[in-house]
Amino acid sequence: MLTAGSDDLPHHNPCAQCGRLIAAPVWFEKGPYRTSYLWRCVRCGYKFEAIAFFKQMNHETRATAA
Ligand SMILES: [Zn+2]
Repeated sequence: MLTAGSDDLPHHNPCAQCGRLIAAPVWFEKGPYRTSYLWRCVRCGYKFEAIAFFKQMNHETRATAA
């Protein structure tokens, strides 16, 4: 099951042109440490992209054999 992350979609982003709140992005693409969202305004038809950057995951596993 690869549904992880589907709940962290942003919602109600205001249109960059007319200010109307857009319920959800029409498209998104996940990349390493970032996700691109495409928003389309239903009122004026304006499209814009927003990119969310995430903190780099700390996968450093340093075995401290003492
Ligand atoms: Zn708009």
